[in-house]
Amino acid sequence: MAQRGSLYVISAPSGAGKNALLDEVRRRETRIASTVSATTRAPRPGERDGVDYHFLGREEFQRRVAAGDFAEWAEVHGNLYGTLRSELDRCLATGSDVILELDVQGMRSLKRLYPGVGTIFLAPPSMEELERRLRNRGTNDDADIALRLRNAESEMAARSEFDCIIVNDTIDRAAAEMVELLAARRAAPTAAGTDNR
Ligand code: 5GP
Repeated sequence: MAQRGSLYVISAPSGAGKNALLDEVRRRETRIASTVSATTRAPRPGERDGVDYHFLGREEFQRRVAAGDFAEWAEVHGNLYGTLRSELDRCLATGSDVILELDVQGMRSLKRLYPGVGTIFLAPPSMEELERRLRNRGTNDDADIALRLRNAESEMAARSEFDCIIVNDTIDRAAAEMVELLAARRAAPTAAGTDNR
C-alpha cells in the first residue's frame, strides 16, 4: 500500500511567526506538502499569485463558494480565505504530510471533515511580543494592527481546542519541536492515529 502522510492544521495569531517557522520546518523536513489558499485580500509586496495565495476578487471567490469549490472558507480580518478542494486533493495525492495554515474557524471546519486531523496552535511568547512583531513587520497600518491584535485575543482563547500548542519563542527551538511532532506521528502510526483523514 502506498505510504500515506498525515494531515495537519496549524493556526496562529497574525504576527506569531507562522511563515518563518514553517519555512524553517520545510528546510529541515522535506516530506511536507502545503496547500495554497485562495483569498480576497490584496497581495503584500513580494507575494506572488499561485505561490503565496490564489488572489481572487470577492465576486469570483463567492462564485466559487457557490460552485462548491472550497473544502472550507472563512472571513478573517475582513477578507475571505479558503482552501480549494483541488488544492487539498493535489496535496493529499503526494503521500507527504499535508499542512494547512488556517484560522480557528478553518480548523473547526477541517475537524468536521477529517476528525483525525492533527491540530497545532502556534502561540507568541506574550501579547506584548506579538504587538512588537506586528509593528516591526511594517506591512500593516495601525488600524489593521489593532484589528489583528483584537482577533489574536479570541484566537488565543481557542488554543485549548488544539491537540498541541507550540510557543514560538525562537524559530530554532519551535521548528525542532514541530519536526519532532511530525516524526513521532510517522513513527507510531496506530498509536498516534496517523491515518487521520
Ligand atoms: P494573512 O492575511 O496574514 O496572510 O492571513 C490571515 C489569516 O488567514 C491567518 O490566520 C491565516 O491562517 C488565515 N488563512 C489563510 N488561508 C486560509 C484558508 O484557506 N482558510 C482559512 N480558514 N483561513 C486561512
